[in-house]
Parts: sequence; C-alpha cells; structure tokens
Amino acid sequence: MRSSKGALKAGDALLIVDVQNDFCPGGALPIREGDAIIAPLNAWIAAAEAAGLPIYASRDWHPTPHPSFHTHDGPWPPHCIQDTAGAAFHPHLRLPADAIVVTKGTRFDEDQNSAFHHTGLATHLRRHGIHRLWLAGLALDVCVLATALDARREGFAVHLLSECSRPVTPEGAEAIEQMRRAGVVVED
Ligand SMILES: [Zn+2]
Repeated sequence: MRSSKGALKAGDALLIVDVQNDFCPGGALPIREGDAIIAPLNAWIAAAEAAGLPIYASRDWHPTPHPSFHTHDGPWPPHCIQDTAGAAFHPHLRLPADAIVVTKGTRFDEDQNSAFHHTGLATHLRRHGIHRLWLAGLALDVCVLATALDARREGFAVHLLSECSRPVTPEGAEAIEQMRRAGVVVED
C-alpha cells in the first residue's frame, strides 16, 4: 500500500478539522461515514508524533444563538454547541495531550468555516516555522475546503488526506477539484 507518511519532515504540521461527535453518525449534523476517517487518521497522528511534528485540531464551538443555525436563518441545524457532548472530539480520535486546539465558530456576527478565519492561525504557524500542512477532517466540502483554500491564500503548501475526510453534501468531488485548482496536493 502506498503511503505518503514517509514524506513528513520538519516544517510540516498535521491539521485535523472538526472531528467532533455532532459531525459523526448519531450526531446533530451527521456526515455519512464521518467516523470512518478516524482509524486512518489515527495512523497519521501516530506518524506525525513519531516525526516530532505538531498536531493541530480545530473545533466548531458555537454559542446559542449562532448565525449558522436554522433557528437564526442559517444553513445548518444547531450543532457543536459549546461544552456539550456533541461538540467534543470523537472519543476514538487519538489526539495527543499536546495537540493544539483551534477554536472557531464562536462569533455572534458570522460563521467561521475555515480554521484560519479570524483565528490568528496563519500568524501562529509562520512564527513556528511551519510551511506545509497535512489536512484532514470534516466536512470535506465545507470546513476542510474553506481551511484548505485559506491555507493556500496564506502561502502554505497543503496536502489533503482524502482518505481522512468525508463530504456532508454530494459536492465532495467538486470540493476536491476546487482544492486541486488552488494548488492542493490530493493524497489517496
Ligand atoms: Zn458549525
């Protein structure tokens, strides 16, 4: 089996987007096979740890009310409400204790699909000498896409771990094409 894990090197980081209970089967905004990404993603976490690379995990962390909710004319059912079980990382995700959590979706005035949107993440990564991101998580066509496009705009190299991501709508293939056009390297 081909694997790119051997390409991990200094200046890389693993960025895991929103692997939270509400985005997995049984959650408030379930993504088909959302939990199927966790086993292959844990292997990437182990490889990044073995290579001494930093691991970032973003989380949707909404107040009630939130502008993305149906109840407030937004596109989604209420999900990932702060301090609820639905907002917790999936219990099978083996995040190391020193993983850096990027909290987003906390604003009252707008949603933050991208882990870069008004979080300061790009500045932080540059300060820590990170040039390249290995990107995974949920959902492929919403928050992973927005994060990938922002990362490219900010000048980072991006490799999408497509085995470790799933779409919430049938637009998954289009999301991957959009990422490719932006210069994202798509891994199997
Ligand atoms: Zn959200």
